[in-house]
Amino acid sequence: MKKRIGIIGSGAAGLQLAYSLKNDFDVTLHHFEEQDEVRRGRIRSTQVHFRTTLDRENRFQMLEMDKAPSIKSVHFNMGQQKLFVGRLRGEATSVDQRMAFSKAMDDLTQQGVRMRKARVLSNEIKTLAESYDILIDATGKSGPLLPFPVEAELTPFHTPQRKCIVGYFKGVASVHPEGVSITVLPGAGEMFEIPALTEQGTVTILFIEAVPEGPLDAFKGVRSAQEFEERMKCILVEHFPGIYERVDLDRFSLVDEAAYLQTAITPFIRRPYLMLNGTLVLGCGDSVFLADPITGQGCNTASYCAEQLFETLMAHKESPWDEKVGIEYWSRIRPYLTAVTEWTNAMTGPLPEPIIQILLQAAMDQQIADQVAHWFENPPKAHEAFFRQ
Ligand SMILES: Cc1cc2nc3c(=O)[nH]c(=O)nc-3n(C[C@H](O)[C@H](O)[C@H](O)COP(=O)(O)OP(=O)(O)OC[C@H]3O[C@@H](n4cnc5c(N)ncnc54)[C@H](O)[C@@H]3O)c2cc1C
Repeated sequence: MKKRIGIIGSGAAGLQLAYSLKNDFDVTLHHFEEQDEVRRGRIRSTQVHFRTTLDRENRFQMLEMDKAPSIKSVHFNMGQQKLFVGRLRGEATSVDQRMAFSKAMDDLTQQGVRMRKARVLSNEIKTLAESYDILIDATGKSGPLLPFPVEAELTPFHTPQRKCIVGYFKGVASVHPEGVSITVLPGAGEMFEIPALTEQGTVTILFIEAVPEGPLDAFKGVRSAQEFEERMKCILVEHFPGIYERVDLDRFSLVDEAAYLQTAITPFIRRPYLMLNGTLVLGCGDSVFLADPITGQGCNTASYCAEQLFETLMAHKESPWDEKVGIEYWSRIRPYLTAVTEWTNAMTGPLPEPIIQILLQAAMDQQIADQVAHWFENPPKAHEAFFRQ
């Protein structure tokens, strides 16, 4: 008989886990929104998936969105000054999670994965754990459902370091060559421009990372798509004239009424395993590894950890699933998580002088510009640059 795995949460982590595990185990996915609610709901992310993540999605035969704009470069601006365009080693993409998740849920259902619709409550976990050989908490940033212990040395903040303000817009001409564009306004925050695929076609995501109470933290009290559009227009005029020049005012609008979000994240890292009445419970994705989105790594980290979790379970396919399996999973992912977490946390502070020097050199040297772009595809390289003595 196949071992039974329960996965709670049908987001980036839960879906990849379901795809990877469904052939060897008896998988049940617990989710609380139907596909149509996800499709018609609010945007969730800016979801840039770098090449290594796309490779994992291919490995597990996840659905591919072939019309997604291909992100090949990272444009970097400091204030109003364009510094450089670094080339990525592999193409990246961003596909509206509303579309990607709902299609993946349809696909998994057709492939025979059992879906259980209900919001799982913390007080139900014990009973739920009894029906599985392993239970995985992939509930995202609203989780975790269980008290996985916090890793204090990787969790330095007690409040959000940024306000995250995101809108999916029509009517913004893309940068050339097509890619992600980052503009840093020291002390105020950052603006990210990202080409993405939605059900209405290609859009430009405008994503502000605002230092709380700073000049970009200007969306308080916004209650409607129209107010959001107006506020964004004012911010572009005042702080990002280079983007405003590319706006077609007749077409500038959110792609739909739910295509904006505001959130703020207090990052934390938790040890992702515990035993519950003899059943191993593991965490994967934001429920246990939550980071500010400033480096665009959340989905990529979730995908990395989901693959390592798959490898761990496959290595112990025939042996008992006990705490040792949890310890092995944690030791496999810990070095990567440490690198991505420390780099991401450092990016929310003032940029260290050696990093500013690298960025200035990148403006004159294409090889260095490409290395900086590569940081986003390979966070341990960024960590090396930020933390080498
Ligand atoms: C503004 C913003 C921009 C971002 N940009 C990027 C980016 O460019 N690149 C990148 O890699 N990452 C980015 N991220 C982070 C990325 O979106 C997340 O890290 C990623 O989606 C995490 O995946 P997950 O599966 O852990 O959680 P999610 O994708 O959030 O999925 C969690 C799922 O669990 C379900 N769930 C929750 N509670 C329960 C429950 N009790 N019972 C049943 N189901 C439940 C939810 O409905 C949801 O479907 C961004 C995040 C934000 C906020």
